[in-house]
Amino acid sequence: MDSFDEVDVSRAILDAYHAKFAKVLRSDVVVVGAGPSGLVAGWKLAQVGRRVCILEKRLSPGGGIWGGSLGMNEIALEKEALDILDEMGVAHQVHGRLFTADAMQLSAALILQALRAGATILNLMMAEDLCVRSQRVTGVVANRSLIGDQLPVDPIVFSAKAVIDATGHEAVLAKCLQRRGLLRDSPDRLPGEGPMDAPAGERFVVDRVAELYPGLWMTGMSVSASLGGPRMGAIFGGMLLSGKKVAASVEQALAKLGPEAQGR
Ligand SMILES: Cc1cc2nc3c(=O)[nH]c(=O)nc-3n(C[C@H](O)[C@H](O)[C@H](O)COP(=O)(O)OP(=O)(O)OC[C@H]3O[C@@H](n4cnc5c(N)ncnc54)[C@H](O)[C@@H]3O)c2cc1C
Repeated sequence: MDSFDEVDVSRAILDAYHAKFAKVLRSDVVVVGAGPSGLVAGWKLAQVGRRVCILEKRLSPGGGIWGGSLGMNEIALEKEALDILDEMGVAHQVHGRLFTADAMQLSAALILQALRAGATILNLMMAEDLCVRSQRVTGVVANRSLIGDQLPVDPIVFSAKAVIDATGHEAVLAKCLQRRGLLRDSPDRLPGEGPMDAPAGERFVVDRVAELYPGLWMTGMSVSASLGGPRMGAIFGGMLLSGKKVAASVEQALAKLGPEAQGR
């Protein structure tokens, strides 16, 4: 154990992180937010061979999954989402008309699944703006979360053919476009979530997955916050299915691009 010194440790980390970081400066898809919808989207797109970068502002990916409801670390979901659990090997239990899964197991499995499919997750990286060129989103402007808007330090850009806003209630990227008046029929502010109606909210986050602006897609709770869907609490089937649907929609759009833009 004495064949290295402290500088070797630092150098190993620097070299490995630099390689990871450099690889995703140009990605096919940047997903912002590593909650359930963002992780599924990143996993599914990486699985079909896309270069995927997932930016997460917190230390731990997983978003709202970890705490279930009231900090009770079990999540509820509907039968329509069980295939996704089965694909990851996550156990579930039957509870009347619903199912539950261990929040720890689900978070860990989603993270591992995305990474094993080839996605890169950069944590402590906060998206703060979008690059827009010729009326199309072409990348994400991000900074270290710990720097954020606390210090006068410039951010860095991750370019992408498609960007997914999976930032949950904050709908951070939709708000960037909205405050610049770039959204069609842009209201003064995004509507935010409506009152709780769990079944309707779950349908909403799946049915209304869309490309909000050329190059920018929405998934999960961002869909509700941007389009005024009902809130739904600690039920997660809609989030998983929303992530799967946005991945299919993005893949369909990328497949229509010319061979040069494909870059695979
Ligand atoms: C605090 C909290 C409040 C909740 N409130 C509701 C509610 O009101 N209604 C409801 O129906 N359900 C609520 N839930 C339940 C449930 O957790 C969410 O509906 C579900 O987690 C949403 O999944 P998601 O993938 O859309 O986003 P989330 O699980 O919220 O994940 C979003 C991820 O994006 C990251 N992120 C945010 N901004 C940035 C940025 N700028 N750059 C990089 N990463 C970013 C976050 O850190 C997070 O990891 C809440 C959960 C939590 C933890």
